[in-house]
Amino acid sequence: MNAESKVTAEHLQRAAYLYIRQSTLRQVLENTESTERQYALRRRAVTLGWPEERIVVIDHDQGQSGASASEREGFQRLVADVGLDKAGIVMGLEVSRLARNCADWHRLLEICALSHTLILDEDGLYDPAHYNDRLLLGLKGTMSEAELHVLKARLVGGVLNKAQRGELKMPLPVGLIYEEDKVILDPDQQVQQSLRVFFATFERVGSAWATVQTFRRDGLKFPKRGQAGSGEIAWQELTHAITLDTLHNPRYAGAFCFGRTRSWTDAQGKYHCRQLPREQWRFLKQNAHAGYLTWEQFLGNQERLLQNHQAHGGGERKAGPPREGPALLQGVALCGKCGRSMTICYHQRFGRLTPDYLCQKNCVEQSQPACQRIPGTGIDEAIGQLLVQSVTPLALEVALNVQSEIQQRLAEADRLRQQQVQRARYEADRARIRYMRVDPNNRLVADTLEAQWNENLRSLAQAKEDCEKQQRLDSAQLTEEQRTKIFALAADFPRLWQESTTSNRDRKRMARLLLEDVTLLRGEQEIVVQVRFKGGATQELRLAIPKSAWALRKTKPEIVHEIDHLLDERTESQIAAELNSRGWHTSAGRPFTMSIVHRLRRAHHLRSRPQRLRDKGWLTTKQIAPQIGCKPNLVKYWRQQGLLQGIRLNDKEEYLYEQPRTDMVAQIKQRTRRSSESLA
Ligand SMILES: [Zn+2]
Repeated sequence: MNAESKVTAEHLQRAAYLYIRQSTLRQVLENTESTERQYALRRRAVTLGWPEERIVVIDHDQGQSGASASEREGFQRLVADVGLDKAGIVMGLEVSRLARNCADWHRLLEICALSHTLILDEDGLYDPAHYNDRLLLGLKGTMSEAELHVLKARLVGGVLNKAQRGELKMPLPVGLIYEEDKVILDPDQQVQQSLRVFFATFERVGSAWATVQTFRRDGLKFPKRGQAGSGEIAWQELTHAITLDTLHNPRYAGAFCFGRTRSWTDAQGKYHCRQLPREQWRFLKQNAHAGYLTWEQFLGNQERLLQNHQAHGGGERKAGPPREGPALLQGVALCGKCGRSMTICYHQRFGRLTPDYLCQKNCVEQSQPACQRIPGTGIDEAIGQLLVQSVTPLALEVALNVQSEIQQRLAEADRLRQQQVQRARYEADRARIRYMRVDPNNRLVADTLEAQWNENLRSLAQAKEDCEKQQRLDSAQLTEEQRTKIFALAADFPRLWQESTTSNRDRKRMARLLLEDVTLLRGEQEIVVQVRFKGGATQELRLAIPKSAWALRKTKPEIVHEIDHLLDERTESQIAAELNSRGWHTSAGRPFTMSIVHRLRRAHHLRSRPQRLRDKGWLTTKQIAPQIGCKPNLVKYWRQQGLLQGIRLNDKEEYLYEQPRTDMVAQIKQRTRRSSESLA
């Protein structure tokens, strides 16, 4: 079937679609020849019978990669129009280039077949409805994808080969530069020095955030180079992000690495990039060039950062870096009820920062009440004492003796292993001799004996290897010098622990060298503290629950009793003066005042002085006024005249009055009458 016979009148009624695409902008600019070829197709369409005005050119996708249809507007329009039976023929330079992605291409073929649309390229005219043509077109698509793959593989392969040898030139972090092809430390001494200070600071403070703070506090800047390894040095403030980048970068440890990230493009054409864990890095070559750290230091830093991360983000339980606060068990305290790690909460108590250990994960996450809250003061002191007691020369002596006994036993085991090697050697020798003695023409026997000999040689090699490996492991014996050093440290420990200049942070570090974790459980009467030392030894402490601030401040009962007693005779301010004159003071150590006495009286529900006096029959001004026949405001006058007996209630000059005697009442009434007459 020739090309012309495939074109029918029905095809010619519809439009011809010419799809033009160049992958990159550079191709668009430089490779004008292929654009020319694409427009030449237009002439083919005219020859096949499509009028010039019915040829639709789709060139929206110039400069777009053909890898996926999602970003290519032109291709989408083409597919839509073919589906709507608008296209009689689709033309492209190499049809497979219509769609570089196989899935897109087969979809287009499918739609073309359904809508009876022809396909034209430089090689010929195809009708996708025909099996042969469709097969060919499908193959072309597959080949095109394969071609792209081969091209890419060649390009990437070259890069990977270089990377594998550690010779690929990649952008270097600040502080390292290329000298010809070698990576060296930046010759700028200031840059070198800042990086050394940076790593030393992290080593000392143990967290990225604290490193940033230290740099800020000391006014230190961090270097930055414009272009990878080249460009001018600029100085910037150290940030948390830079700190993490620097600490995570293995090149500072002199290691070459490649493929630390994985990147991909999703269905929407969005670019993604993800960091991979170290085991999945493509290439890693240690000691590839000069660096600021050893590989072990680098790994140590990674471990430290991971622990810090876990301490903050939950996950596995890990202790965070020791912080400044005084709570000794920060990061190592565990809840005795639920096993979670406990957090610290500080509060002021008698002017000192006091820690409470708090298990509050539930309370934070599910707004439930805190699981446990345990006052920390007593616990920290007890643990401190326990550590000082545990790290004594005597305790170490015992430990070291046990250690040397274990060493002796190891030596015995070693002798046994040596014997095993000897035996294996003997067997191998025997097998060799047996093999030598056999008639070489007797192949059957000779082969069996040879196999046996080989087998024996293998066992011998294995036994030797095992023996040497175990020897290396066991040989970690202490020298006399190391022993003396350990004893000196043990003698120094209590002094160092109690020294006021030792910071909380260092004290915590020391504690962590010795302690694995400490489990706290608050019981009815006491706090149970279970201490687990490194190495597995445990110890249980039982501590009294410290009295709460309220209980500590509670006034002694004898003082309350005395106030009760004095209230019969004195006003509140008089009582305060009396107590002070006896040299007593409040639970907080301050002298008494009227308001303190007042508060104590109310707190202990003591009867007030007016109450007491009234109960004894004393009268208020209002009560006595009608009895003596005068207005209440004159009662004070009669008391001053000595005709009424009053008793002082408080500092406000308020009085209560005794039941007046009848002769006094008569006298008052007489004097009142006389004065009113004289006024009249
Ligand atoms: Zn708990």
